[in-house]
Amino acid sequence: AVAFNVETFRQQFPFFQANPNWVYLDNAATSHKPQIMLDSLQHFYASANSNIHRGAHSLGDQATQLYEQARQHVADFIGAEQAEQIIFTSGTTAALNQLAFGLMGTVLQPGDRILLTTLEHHANIVPWQLHCQSKGVVLDVVPLTVDHQLDMAAFSRLLQHQPKVVSFCHVSNVLGQVLPVADMVQQAQAVGALTVIDGAQGILHDTIDVQQLNTDFYVFSGHKIYGPTGVGVLYGKTKALECLTPLLGGGEMIQHVSFDHTRYHQLPFRLEAGTSAIAEVIALGTTLHWLAKQDRTGMRQHKQQLLQHGWQQLEAMPQLELLSSATNNAGIITFNVRGEHPTDVATLLNEQKIAVRAGQHCAMPLFANIHHPGAVRLSLAAYTTQAEVDAAINAIRMAVELLCPS
Ligand code: PMP
Repeated sequence: AVAFNVETFRQQFPFFQANPNWVYLDNAATSHKPQIMLDSLQHFYASANSNIHRGAHSLGDQATQLYEQARQHVADFIGAEQAEQIIFTSGTTAALNQLAFGLMGTVLQPGDRILLTTLEHHANIVPWQLHCQSKGVVLDVVPLTVDHQLDMAAFSRLLQHQPKVVSFCHVSNVLGQVLPVADMVQQAQAVGALTVIDGAQGILHDTIDVQQLNTDFYVFSGHKIYGPTGVGVLYGKTKALECLTPLLGGGEMIQHVSFDHTRYHQLPFRLEAGTSAIAEVIALGTTLHWLAKQDRTGMRQHKQQLLQHGWQQLEAMPQLELLSSATNNAGIITFNVRGEHPTDVATLLNEQKIAVRAGQHCAMPLFANIHHPGAVRLSLAAYTTQAEVDAAINAIRMAVELLCPS
């Protein structure tokens, strides 16, 4: 096989040609888009635009076919058994809100427990909290060890409370560590819990096979995996999806409506009320179909090498405190300059056209737990070059010299 070539891969992303002076290391926030994705959006709106599942004319039938083909592409990409197990949402946040709302009153009864982890993004905390109090459901949280890893002994211990739902990220968006999700699913199911994996970061890291993982639910956003904004995926086993009360009611999700009683449509339509982000769904399908044919192992190895390269240089700088770890890491380096606020560091980097993220990264409980006001985050992607990492390191050196003159 031909080795992964970052330059060839990168050429497929027009953003970099349009912005040659920028170093973009904010890939965990959102990824850039390959030409094939942009072409798909353009093609749909310019040539095939029509609403779907409405039948009266053949333009609509064609659009419906493209949309349902995208569902199949997504199912193939994550190894789902059936396309009907793929529900299109507006993103990870919407999918997790559908899960929290939809499991309350069906799977979750007053007095039941949900288990989350300290690593979670607000999107995997707040939707559960929104309903827990009024429904009398209790939230438990798996703590971290002193070296910021998930405390797996505590995880096993907390499972003894027999939570009905266990929800955790695949990869932390702050510290980048890859959780042992297959093991966690197995342990959770052994006590009878339904499992939810927040794959917003994990989906890009590795090849996902939801059947092998055996998780009940897996959710992710299109925009972090080279696809468009406004579309995301809620995968579920058929039985698990059938437990969900629809969060949104409206057109297309029903079989029969009268003012006395409404009968819902079958899956997946029952959970897709209203007009979907049709063009975006189709473009996401096209993107994942394309991505599945890329050298994903090579992409991961490239990112891993860059991470090690950047890590070694940052580790040698005594003014920095690294919060993430270099092992088992999906491409995220999180640090602080000792005694300085992360946003000041990011501002100095921005002046040198290095795009990073600073702050609490939608994970306030995690930062409270590790006693930091926030952090600077560099997040790498398969199209990141070594020259970009070096430019970022130089800029960090200059920032450190400015902020802490020796
Ligand atoms: N979970 C994790 C781990 C994330 O990184 C993100 C995005 N930062 C989300 C959930 C929310 O994703 P979205 O904003 O696309 O809904």
